[in-house]
Amino acid sequence: MPASDTSVSILIRQLASGPTPPAPGSSALHTRVADVVRQMGAPPWSKRIIADERQLVTLIASPPGGGNRPHWHRDFDEWWVVLAGQLEWELTGGTVIRATRDDIVWVPRGAVHHIRNVGDELSLRLAVAMPPAAHYFSPCEQCGYSDDGPREWCA
Ligand SMILES: [Zn+2]
Repeated sequence: MPASDTSVSILIRQLASGPTPPAPGSSALHTRVADVVRQMGAPPWSKRIIADERQLVTLIASPPGGGNRPHWHRDFDEWWVVLAGQLEWELTGGTVIRATRDDIVWVPRGAVHHIRNVGDELSLRLAVAMPPAAHYFSPCEQCGYSDDGPREWCA
């Protein structure tokens, strides 16, 4: 059966039965971006900040000229908050979005997104995706970027 004939649903196994305090030592309660940047060191890197049944939140650092492998998602729309630097999104159909600190970028499912740091300093973006976050790699039709890595990957 072609993948386009399938739908996706999620199962939430752990339900809260009422007001519940966070687990002691829960690491995601409060994250300081500056601390993560210091711990991770020189870019490129990515650090998962939050992961549960509905969301995968990842802090991603790219050096000038760096970026992602162009890809698209079948079952979720993805969005980002730019925390530092100058980033550019090239999307299927020719849309190009330039974004900088405090900007929010949203990309619908199906649109290949090629993200690059087009500035001259470190870029930081907080990416919000939905598990299992399958990535379908695809050349960037704007710049022709391609690679010979695996075609499919789950975050
Ligand atoms: Zn993506």
